[in-house]
Amino acid sequence: MKLMEKPTPVKNEYWLTPRSAYLHIPFCAHHCGYCDFAVTAGKDYLMDLYIEAIVEELRRLSNPQPVETIFLGGGTPSYLSLPQLSRLLVEVNRWLPLLANGEFTIEATPESLSADKIGLLHHHGVNRVSLGVQTFQAPLLQSLDRIHSPEHVDKAIEWLQPTIPNISIDLIFAIPKSTLATWQSDLQTAVRYPIHHISTYGLTYEKGTPLWKQRERGQIDSISEELELEMYQYGIHFLREQGFEHYEISNFAHPEYRCRHNETYWANWAYWGFGVGAARYVQGSRELNTRNTEDYIRKVLAGEDPTFQRETLSPEERARETLAMQLRRADGIDYEQFQFQTGFDARVILQDKIETYLQADLIHCHPKGLALTEKGFFVADTLAVKLAWDS
Ligand code: SF4
Repeated sequence: MKLMEKPTPVKNEYWLTPRSAYLHIPFCAHHCGYCDFAVTAGKDYLMDLYIEAIVEELRRLSNPQPVETIFLGGGTPSYLSLPQLSRLLVEVNRWLPLLANGEFTIEATPESLSADKIGLLHHHGVNRVSLGVQTFQAPLLQSLDRIHSPEHVDKAIEWLQPTIPNISIDLIFAIPKSTLATWQSDLQTAVRYPIHHISTYGLTYEKGTPLWKQRERGQIDSISEELELEMYQYGIHFLREQGFEHYEISNFAHPEYRCRHNETYWANWAYWGFGVGAARYVQGSRELNTRNTEDYIRKVLAGEDPTFQRETLSPEERARETLAMQLRRADGIDYEQFQFQTGFDARVILQDKIETYLQADLIHCHPKGLALTEKGFFVADTLAVKLAWDS
């Protein structure tokens, strides 16, 4: 559908030129049964070659590009050896120099960290660690097919705290056989650690994963939607009481500890992306690299382009996409900022949907614009698409 209204000229080019960079390291010690990311397990012999390929992709920037945030995600970037990490981080700092007060995050599994590795990360400018804890219950870790234990979490946080104290943890709720009591216990345990950020995700059964197959065969049952909603809402209320701001559907932070890198995505600003399966959004064009690690290495080292999908959005598509993304934030849409960023008036895109969804208690208005309610957050993916794209 087309908006009749002509956009005002976009005054702010900032959101089209990247100030953030994502690098994907696909290697993991083990492929967890629920995981659908671009992951490579059991092929550690490819690691050195992969680092050479990602360094080559960085070199194609031609000139160093200063950034405000860097996110080394995966996979498990912390699974790389000390020399591999060192080689990678030197090149990341060369091609993507971090601006003053920049944020440099690495994702880590608890069992892959050591005091030496943390020292090396700190030495190369990493100042934030996102730890894949998932649950503190050993039997639930087993049903998630994770290989770490709660003791690994203790040790990792003990090592991190004096060196890289900006720690975030991921938790998963709605795991088969979990109860409201196990979820409450996980949250209570989490807030006893010196951490500043928590991401909570409801377990999803991605088609084709071992976990999905187990459910198909009737070997496990997913928990009820009512209980999942109860867990989600409990998490929001509990973490708020504990001083965490609920700033995005799944994310909670102490004041000044929001994940600035992810805020780039939720604002729908531009970002660089390097590595297998990595996405980038540069000057209004979305690109996606091949999701196959061998293919990525072969292409990049042969001097070819690893991009396998490319799409340039029209200004109106960019505006609608921005609306859907920004609705993930607790702050939602700020009409004035939205117009400044996209050139479109969000109210024209939303039209009479505002009234319909207000009445359904799925959105609420605030002095600057509107945002989803708690009930709206629970169905955010479908709701945001309806609000942004339905006419
Ligand atoms: S460690 Fe993380 S990225 Fe690796 S397989 Fe498990 S869930 Fe996926």
